[in-house]
Amino acid sequence: MPPFDVPEGDPFGPHNLPYGVFSPAGSDAAGRRVGVRLGDHVLDAGAAARALGSPYAALLAQSSLNPLLAAGRTAWSDVRRALTAWVTVPSHRDAIEPLFHPLSSVTLHLPFEVADYVDFYASENHARNVGRIFRPDAEDSLTPNWKHLPIGYHGRSGTVVVSGTDVVRPSGQRKAPSDPAPVFGPSVRLDIEAEVGFVVGVPSGRGKPVGLSAFREHVFGLSLLNDWSARDVQAWEYVPLGPFLGKSFATSVSAWITPLDALEEARVAPPKRTHPLLPYLDDSEEEPGGYDLRISVAVNGHVVSEPPFSTMYWTAAQQLAHMTVNGASLRTGDLFGSGTVSGPTERERGSLLELTWNGRDPLELPDGKRTFLEDGDVVTLSAWAPGPGGVRVGLGEVTGRILPG
Ligand code: CA
Repeated sequence: MPPFDVPEGDPFGPHNLPYGVFSPAGSDAAGRRVGVRLGDHVLDAGAAARALGSPYAALLAQSSLNPLLAAGRTAWSDVRRALTAWVTVPSHRDAIEPLFHPLSSVTLHLPFEVADYVDFYASENHARNVGRIFRPDAEDSLTPNWKHLPIGYHGRSGTVVVSGTDVVRPSGQRKAPSDPAPVFGPSVRLDIEAEVGFVVGVPSGRGKPVGLSAFREHVFGLSLLNDWSARDVQAWEYVPLGPFLGKSFATSVSAWITPLDALEEARVAPPKRTHPLLPYLDDSEEEPGGYDLRISVAVNGHVVSEPPFSTMYWTAAQQLAHMTVNGASLRTGDLFGSGTVSGPTERERGSLLELTWNGRDPLELPDGKRTFLEDGDVVTLSAWAPGPGGVRVGLGEVTGRILPG
């Protein structure tokens, strides 16, 4: 089907237009270029800008999204408006149509240079489940700070990989409480965390906190994110400084970054706050900071969970405000993960740790029982959000296969 004629209701129709970086079939590393997805095609955005004499050619004829990310909100809106016209106005058809490539024919790359990577812990359901599993004797399943600040840690940006990249089972130290001494070897509790990653475009200066209301001036868009986690390595290493080698081996993100401008209809208020917040986190007078994203987690093609992002207690704007309140600066390409998305019911949990209750209740898949991931398993996160006129906005999937360690 010609790219202009995307079927009505396609979640990647002209209302969506996520950005990525691709190389056409047969090209080498120098062939990388910014692309915009329409249906099951990708438009060479820089070539389109040049063909139409657009002033945005300099931003789009690039091998990464970083120049566009750094350009700021006015440019983001202008470019999006132009792209929408290029792929919908019939008079552009002859010039634009030859610049589309079938998705199946291109190679997709990590779409931006990841600067710093931070991961949060913003789902109350997830935090409570983890508390019940690992601290069953604690009076409260949440730690005392949880309702007062968005808990996070600094991760490893150099191992963020694009969807489709294989994940080699990591090795490390593990020691169950009953073991006499630690042992070393491939993780036997390899897990996923279904998350949403937010991409910073506009940097901030050191000593200049980014307030809640400045969120949309700095953050360009979002994508699905899988925070692969070796639970056995994590359990032995994480006290007292938090996650380290149990998570730093790989973090997968989608090849497509969905601009926040495509998600206007998906904005929702976060859950009711149960504790008063300090002024820099108090969003009661702000625009709705939540996003209604319906995530789906599949193992070997079998859906095991559907986590609802709208249930996240802490919003991305609060996370950004917290991350910078000490004066830490932002860089173009900073990535921050929401934390595992888990809803209130069993089929809405975003990790195998929770879905199997730390291995106690195996999942029954068509290809056998599963507690944690086995070699050869393929995990795929997908999602959609409500869009204009009831049309869905599709998020690019995140998939990865486990290879033996
Ligand atoms: Ca995580």
